Amino acid sequence: MDFNLPTELRMLKRTVREFVDRELIPLEREYRPEGEEGMPEKYLRPLQEKAKALGFWLLDVPQEYGGAGLGLLARCVIAEEVSRSVALPFRSIELFGPEVRPVLFHCDAEQKERFLYPVIRGEKRVCFAQTEPDAGSDPAGMRTRAVRDGDHFILNGTKRFITGAGSADYAQVMAVTDPEKRAHGGITCFIVDMKSPGVTLERQWHTMMGDAPWEIVFNNVRVLATDVIGKVGEGFSLAQKWITDGRIRGHGARPVGIAQRALDMMIEYAQNRVTFGVPLAERQAVQFMIADSIMELHAARLMVYECAWRSDLGEDVRDLSYMVKITCAEMAGRVVDRAIQVHGGVGLTKDLPLEWWYRQVRSIRITEGATEVLRWRLAQNAIRTHKK
Ligand SMILES: Cc1cc2nc3c(=O)[nH]c(=O)nc-3n(C[C@H](O)[C@H](O)[C@H](O)COP(=O)(O)OP(=O)(O)OC[C@H]3O[C@@H](n4cnc5c(N)ncnc54)[C@H](O)[C@@H]3O)c2cc1C
Repeated sequence: MDFNLPTELRMLKRTVREFVDRELIPLEREYRPEGEEGMPEKYLRPLQEKAKALGFWLLDVPQEYGGAGLGLLARCVIAEEVSRSVALPFRSIELFGPEVRPVLFHCDAEQKERFLYPVIRGEKRVCFAQTEPDAGSDPAGMRTRAVRDGDHFILNGTKRFITGAGSADYAQVMAVTDPEKRAHGGITCFIVDMKSPGVTLERQWHTMMGDAPWEIVFNNVRVLATDVIGKVGEGFSLAQKWITDGRIRGHGARPVGIAQRALDMMIEYAQNRVTFGVPLAERQAVQFMIADSIMELHAARLMVYECAWRSDLGEDVRDLSYMVKITCAEMAGRVVDRAIQVHGGVGLTKDLPLEWWYRQVRSIRITEGATEVLRWRLAQNAIRTHKK
């Protein structure tokens, strides 16, 4: 048994770390993302060129489409390092190329020409629309309906909290095609042109993280029957696979990177800040905060690496991914909170990245699966498979 990352991944980690230290952390003094706009072109383009020169381009895209085709463990290692900086938007990191939603790899040959390749080339954007006003944690309860009408489907419903909908050319919309079957073959994934008659961007929701996702209304929208991704009724299982991958990387590896830098900042500040004639680092109350953070971070990192490694081996990691997200999201919340406490008043200011992380990390206990729901699923699966 070897708990070390393979040599090539250790080298990758070091290269990304150096890139982050050299290119991103100094940029934080000038630029901090807020809102939905994404990183301004004047910062993003030069950074993308440098990332490309290092071979870090289209990391999630399989090699057959010109991407790096990296495994999940490698992408987790990269996400961990990149998340140490607050110079990149939290939800849409375009540093390594346009965001290509994995569902698009299930397009047929003709759809790939229309949707996948333009997205890979950065010419078109796609948002993912699953959540609804009455169906967030329980997407199987969605109300958006798609009814067959000759060569088309007619789509009606409302999707809420859709990231990037305002700048998207297409929405990847999940809709009920068979109300009897629902999650078991009755939900279909459609790709819908945002300019279609009957599509309305109803409103934006402004969040404490700065993100402002959208509400989209679909009113008798006609979608070609050929614009189904995968097969009719297959949408739910496609989305779940993608969400599991994102959970491990986005809600596992990313909080690990955030917690690492918060811990480093906490230690450095404690060494330098003197109160009552003694550095904070010499106070046991502060040392315990550091020690607890080190332990929790270590455990969380091992969980992420193990889960990603198993996923790369093709194992079913759904339960492990629940554990990873709960552990990492809650761990990073505690570590960032302690780092703010050790920094005192300065920890609350926008001069430091801590308050930004505090807001972002809080959000991932809710988005893409609330931690209570994941705990419930984990326990259900354990109880169901327990042998008396
Ligand atoms: C910034 C942001 C971006 C988003 N982007 C997208 C996007 O691009 N596309 C998209 O489709 N969605 C998106 N979402 C939606 C997000 O995934 C949902 O908000 C999330 O799944 C929770 O759903 P909900 O808000 O309806 O909460 P609800 O389902 O109403 O749950 C509320 C709370 O109830 C508790 N709870 C719920 N069920 C259970 C249970 N079984 N047991 C115990 N407790 C429970 C949990 O504490 C939960 O937080 C986004 C949301 C935000 C805030």
